[in-house]
Amino acid sequence: MSLLTVGSVAFDALETPFGKTDKIIGGAATYITLSASYFTKENNLVAVVGDDFPQSMIDDLNQHGINTEGLEVRVGEKTFFWSGKYHNDMNSRDTVEVQLNVMENFDPVIPESYQDCTYLMLGNTAPAIQQMVIERLAKRPKLIVLDTMNLWIEIANPDLMNLLKLVDVLVVNDEEARQLTHEYSLVRAAAKIRTMGPQTVIIKKGEHGALLFSEGQIFFAPALPLEEVFDPTGAGDTFAGGFIGYLAKTDDISFDNMKRAIIYGSAMASFCVEKFGAERIMNLTQDEIQARVSDFVTLSSFGLA
Ligand code: AMP
Repeated sequence: MSLLTVGSVAFDALETPFGKTDKIIGGAATYITLSASYFTKENNLVAVVGDDFPQSMIDDLNQHGINTEGLEVRVGEKTFFWSGKYHNDMNSRDTVEVQLNVMENFDPVIPESYQDCTYLMLGNTAPAIQQMVIERLAKRPKLIVLDTMNLWIEIANPDLMNLLKLVDVLVVNDEEARQLTHEYSLVRAAAKIRTMGPQTVIIKKGEHGALLFSEGQIFFAPALPLEEVFDPTGAGDTFAGGFIGYLAKTDDISFDNMKRAIIYGSAMASFCVEKFGAERIMNLTQDEIQARVSDFVTLSSFGLA
């Protein structure tokens, strides 16, 4: 089934306790589409970059089967830039600098060939832009998944509230779920988010896994305990890409299949953190992914005496 992803394609500069990078390729949609590319062959991207964005990276995306017809390259303008610094525990970070550049007036154009998409992943960008994408599709996709962040909860709350009414699944981290609902309990927070629109809520807890909530049902996926975590940037987006990519591949949006999908998402995220930026998820094999998913099964299986 075809997947359409919208979101940032960016330059990032990162600092973790293990090192520092200059401008490397990042962006929510970059991580999402790369991750989803291991599952679905019809992988369409809508995003905007400046003419400073390397053609070689666009070629790399194409080599992963990602359709970049909807990637607008603005001549004379610069690509979105974000820089972040992680705290020692690697679970929290500060945004050091943001240069919106081309994202300041991103006006997403949906190519005709994307119009029949079945799955829509609204990756991190302003809620008003995410909503425009829904409105510019002639037919509502079968499943709309939304990712957002603390910034939009703070500065674009009314837009986000309107958008929430239109989506099926919200993916947020624990801090964002609490910020959005003013509830400390994640069970209560998920229940409150479900009254805002999305009938399924995924709450990511970084190295402590992810929770999946739907009507009357909860599922927990652990995160793989890793010896080395170099850079958590993009882990959330990689998780979302694995989740929706797996759903698009299997074309089954039942709660039971969503359980499998969050395990695949968690497996993809566990690769992402092993190297800086998107390096690791650009070079994966199906065998490596299957072996990692088996590790998750082993990690959380037990028998009752
Ligand atoms: P994650 O670590 O999964 O939360 O995502 C990190 C990615 O989000 C980075 O590659 C950034 O380029 C991107 N990002 C950070 N802030 C924003 C923003 N305000 N809008 C869109 N993308 C952003």
